Amino acid sequence: MNTEKFFIENKFVTSEEVTEIKNPYSGNTVRKVYKSDSSHINAALDHLTDVFDKYKSEPVYFKQSLLSAISDKISERKDFLSELITEETGKPVKFSRIEVDRAVFTFRLGSEEAGRIDGEFTDLSFLKGSENAKGIVKRFPVGLILAITPWNFPVNLVAHKLSPALASGNVVLLKPASASLTCGIEIVKIINECCAELGMNYCPVNVITSSGSETGKFAADERVKMVSFTGSSEVGWELKKKLNRQKISLELGGNAGVIVDETADLTDAVKKIILGGFGQAGQSCISVQRVFIHEKIYKEFEKILKEETAKIITGDPFDEKTDVASMITEADAEKIEKWIGEAVSEGAVIITGGERDKAVLKPTVLANTSAAMKVNAMEVFAPLITITKFSDFKKAVGEVNNSDFGLQAGVFTKNIDNAFYAFENIETGGVIINNVSTYRMDAMPYGGVKDSGNSREGVKYAIEEMTERKIMVIM
Ligand code: NAP
Repeated sequence: MNTEKFFIENKFVTSEEVTEIKNPYSGNTVRKVYKSDSSHINAALDHLTDVFDKYKSEPVYFKQSLLSAISDKISERKDFLSELITEETGKPVKFSRIEVDRAVFTFRLGSEEAGRIDGEFTDLSFLKGSENAKGIVKRFPVGLILAITPWNFPVNLVAHKLSPALASGNVVLLKPASASLTCGIEIVKIINECCAELGMNYCPVNVITSSGSETGKFAADERVKMVSFTGSSEVGWELKKKLNRQKISLELGGNAGVIVDETADLTDAVKKIILGGFGQAGQSCISVQRVFIHEKIYKEFEKILKEETAKIITGDPFDEKTDVASMITEADAEKIEKWIGEAVSEGAVIITGGERDKAVLKPTVLANTSAAMKVNAMEVFAPLITITKFSDFKKAVGEVNNSDFGLQAGVFTKNIDNAFYAFENIETGGVIINNVSTYRMDAMPYGGVKDSGNSREGVKYAIEEMTERKIMVIM
């Protein structure tokens, strides 16, 4: 097995130390990667500071060509990248393919949005003395962005940092999660190849393979102008405390709520809740976790949910039939098994699931839980949902809001008043009507409030975060 190099100062580099990446389902070592250290991070920051002066001035059509080329090359390597995602993270390969298609789209969006970065002309003659004043407002790239990404969407979440950054003239030092380093490196390889093919003698992206804590020490470095972080709430908010003048965008965790009212199409709701709660073993920040069902349809809902959950195929992520494979580590699966045990000892009832085989937790439905139990109050990040009856829609909205998190919520209803009530009152970055919290289309504004974050991604919106408005006043 070759050992993968990281990429700094326009070259692929080796080091003394090697990180082994294991497939979470089989436990086998699937990749080896040279580990970078602080000297490499320092060198990359110096290099990218110089590169920024070149890249920011490239014309729009050039940035568009680069982003289109990246999108095309990811598409050409879809099979390889999908298998790599499955090797590193244990995601069922049929879902890995969808992730790669999404990354193709995310870079294509970057190519389009690069041509839509707006400015304005404004008349400033509001006050005496400003009779002739006019302003031209333009958005400028912030500069060097430290992008830190998680393992659960190891290609598309890298794309969500790099595409808007490159579209808006920034340069990036990428630090992928240690569990999925090679996915990040492969995307940077593609970018470097595209740069060379376009005749550039430099690349606006470097990738390091240091640990998260080592990388975090550089977040407050004056060469870093912005930190763009996607990961757990715990790490994200701690990182923010360490910064000096850097901007920081935080895309963090959740324990999403979904409401199913008495007008909803039950079969459709169950089908989507199963995919949203158990797809990729519930390891998505917007996985369905807490479901609130109107009392009139509760029994029927529970019956269909139980029947349909039993049909889910768990097992080897490389098997085309597998719906749910392993969690990222056995320790994570054990932790949730323990939370289930605690909930049951406090009165919760297992409707289905609850069993664990190494890192594979069977899709689990719990009833009779309380809001204070860990299975509701914390982010489970596992194939587990809780179901709770309600009689008053407004109270169900209150239950969704009874959370430290606020990323996305889903509401199944045919009642337009309920839909608007949910939109006005649910405290999240997104409310999805007639689909689950897990719905995301990569062009939409995406991000959270409360513990779930402070920013928005979705290429156009990330560009807003990654640029500063500057005005030129003409008197
Ligand atoms: P994590 O443990 O917080 O790690 C995320 C990234 O932060 C990794 O690259 C990690 O590196 C790095 N890191 C760890 N400690 C750090 C530190 N002290 N300073 C700087 N960086 C540090 O999260 P994860 O387990 O990879 O991902 C799962 C979490 O991400 C869940 O909470 C999920 O909800 C959230 N998430 C949110 C979104 C969103 O868009 N809102 C999307 C996906 C996932 P190492 O791997 O080397 O430790």
